[in-house]
Amino acid sequence: MELIYILTYNCNFRCKYCDINKHVNNISKKVIDQSLIFLEKNNFNIEKVKFFGWEPLLKKDYIKYIVTNFPKNVKKNFYITTNATLIEENFMLFARNNNIKLTFSIDWNSKTIWINRITKWWKDLSNIIIKNTKKYNDFIRINQVITSNNSKDFFANFKFIYDLWVRKFNFLPEYYSEWSKQWLKNLNKWFNEIFNFYKEWNQFELVNLENYSNISFFNLWLIIDTDWSIYWTNLILSWVFEKYKKDLILWNIFSENYINFQDDDFIRSYIDKTWNILEIEYSKNILNSVKYVDLMLNNFCNKMYFLWNIKD
Ligand code: SF4
Repeated sequence: MELIYILTYNCNFRCKYCDINKHVNNISKKVIDQSLIFLEKNNFNIEKVKFFGWEPLLKKDYIKYIVTNFPKNVKKNFYITTNATLIEENFMLFARNNNIKLTFSIDWNSKTIWINRITKWWKDLSNIIIKNTKKYNDFIRINQVITSNNSKDFFANFKFIYDLWVRKFNFLPEYYSEWSKQWLKNLNKWFNEIFNFYKEWNQFELVNLENYSNISFFNLWLIIDTDWSIYWTNLILSWVFEKYKKDLILWNIFSENYINFQDDDFIRSYIDKTWNILEIEYSKNILNSVKYVDLMLNNFCNKMYFLWNIKD
């Protein structure tokens, strides 16, 4: 099972494709302490603990506190996804010492940053991201975000990051937006380009292979929100789902009694409820786009997995 801590709804970027309603809303020490008691008491089978933020490194002290005080009886690996602008040496040392998997989320090379990433300090920040990527290339992973408006540079952007000597990639095509038929064809073509590059050079790891989910459109993750609520789907992270939070809440970290969210019937009904909301909020065209994008990503992963095993 994966556990997500939302540490803050704030971010120093305003990316065009980001569907998070960014505002100042941070987790508190009280919520963190209670969450640790709650997790220790319930002893869930947690394999991954992920820190989301919108920029989680705005709350570095809380990350350190949670990692240091996480219940010893819970098996876990820690993951952070960051835009890489607030990285500094002390924090990287802490991440290395605690075996934290750190992912930098990047969707551009230095020429195409303008397409999606928006911040008034864009120039300095892009330099910082590139510098940090180069400096920590042996340790970090990259989330390469592919949107319909930057996908024509998919391979060029990949190669740009590859040439910074990063060797662990997670490809993230944008899901909840409409991709035209032509752009879907192109996306497929560019996935093939990356595949051929791998075939020829065989020099990077595909992190997507670690993240298999048997549900296509969303994930079932246990999510601890800043306000103590607990949810069971990553979709609540989007502003589109804010008004449905009351329907999707499981319980809160102060409750004594809670729903058995791992029960098969409960999972089925939760998936149905989430699906109904998706169908209310998104047009057929967008949902079809998600289906095809997901299919392409899956095909790409399967081909890579196959090749990987043959080479082994
Ligand atoms: S850096 Fe990430 S969280 Fe921040 S605005 Fe961009 S996509 Fe959203």
